[in-house]
Amino acid sequence: MLYKRISEMSREEKDRLIRRGGELADVRDTVASILQDVRQNGDAALRLYTGKFDGAELGAIEVSEQEMDEAMQSIDASLLKHLEFAAGNIRKFHQAQMPEKVWFMELSPGIELGQKFTPLESVGAYVPGGRASYPSTALMTIIPAKVAGVRNVVMCTPPGADGRINPLTLAAARIAGADHVYKVGGVQAIGAMAYGTETVLSVCKIVGPGNVYVTAAKMQVRDKAEIDFPAGPSEVLIIADDSADARMAASDIIAQAEHDPNAVSVLVTTSAQLAEDVHAEVLGQAARTARAEIVRSSLANAAVILAGSLEECIGFSNDFAPEHLEIMVSEPDYVLERIENAGSIFVGNYAPVPVGDYASGTNHVLPTAGYAKIYSGLNISHFMKSASIQRISKQGLETLKDAVISIAEKEGLTGHADSIRTRFSN
Ligand code: NAD
Repeated sequence: MLYKRISEMSREEKDRLIRRGGELADVRDTVASILQDVRQNGDAALRLYTGKFDGAELGAIEVSEQEMDEAMQSIDASLLKHLEFAAGNIRKFHQAQMPEKVWFMELSPGIELGQKFTPLESVGAYVPGGRASYPSTALMTIIPAKVAGVRNVVMCTPPGADGRINPLTLAAARIAGADHVYKVGGVQAIGAMAYGTETVLSVCKIVGPGNVYVTAAKMQVRDKAEIDFPAGPSEVLIIADDSADARMAASDIIAQAEHDPNAVSVLVTTSAQLAEDVHAEVLGQAARTARAEIVRSSLANAAVILAGSLEECIGFSNDFAPEHLEIMVSEPDYVLERIENAGSIFVGNYAPVPVGDYASGTNHVLPTAGYAKIYSGLNISHFMKSASIQRISKQGLETLKDAVISIAEKEGLTGHADSIRTRFSN
């Protein structure tokens, strides 16, 4: 774990943190050849790669209704209740984001302009399942799609070596309202949802996080299916001052680190004492954590950084563009106002990232590797498109007439100009 003052960090140390996630290029060719195979050989390729990477011999590729029912019945009642509670919160938060289906404004007498929002026809939700299983990701990807009104929502997730999917993930898919669930993961799942196979329906858009192979595959199928954004190994950046609790900050770093060996956790603080305490706490907690091996690897990507001022913390955070940002300072609104790049923001000592991971209702599918500079985390707008509308009377057209005719003629498009003139020539 890097432990330094910002002013003493070399350009290389800063770059390593800020320009992270460069491995996509390393897997480009492997991913392209699997996608090509899926495109040509459909289900046969899905079976081949599921055997190779997941060690599973697939029977039926689609999960049957009976398997879904059995999964629901196998889950402990209180766990099911908690999953439904989380699903309810996610539904409410995403319902609140829904735009008016149609709206109009009057530009001037006789000219009404507006927008009409329509859900996408079909969406594919990728739910990771390699190192851990992510029932929560099934909720986060499928619920917003259904709230938006997407008719066909399919889910892909890798099976275990026994050819089965974690029952809790299936239960989450059922609660969220998935229309079809397929036992396929990795690159082959992304290819199947983009190109379609004998069994898997092709979709307009693919959303959901995954490892470097999944993310690279999403980037390569964009000629066939739109995607949300690159959502790879998880990250947190914590901005803290001396009002923060070192144990809490350290446990949030460990929580992030246990996701993946490539996870990245950073604390930027104005307090030398807090920096020292968090550093010591992280090392202590890392030794006691259940997923010690993963935590140890990802702590190699962690950093505790001492800044000269809160403004310096904010500047570093905006350059880093974290997937998750925690603000643990005495005046959080001051920081919040100045944050420009972050996937999801957690304000105060009692808003740790895991609440957003599971149950508060915000979405945990978020841009990583600095992509929060250009993408928003998963939300209702990812599942809808809009058409602009104009409703114009003859009186309204009269006010636009001269501008359209003169610009059209200057562009040499006389047919455009005539289309307007015709309406006034009798
Ligand atoms: P995964 O489902 O993304 O990947 C597993 C699949 O990877 C396997 O089924 C296999 O097909 C493929 N694969 C593995 N090795 C391969 C190889 N050598 N060549 C080709 N394909 C290969 O599951 P995972 O690996 O556990 O990764 C999940 C990731 O999702 C983690 O990095 C986690 O941090 C991230 N995540 C991110 C968010 C977010 O919103 N950013 C949310 C949840 C999880």
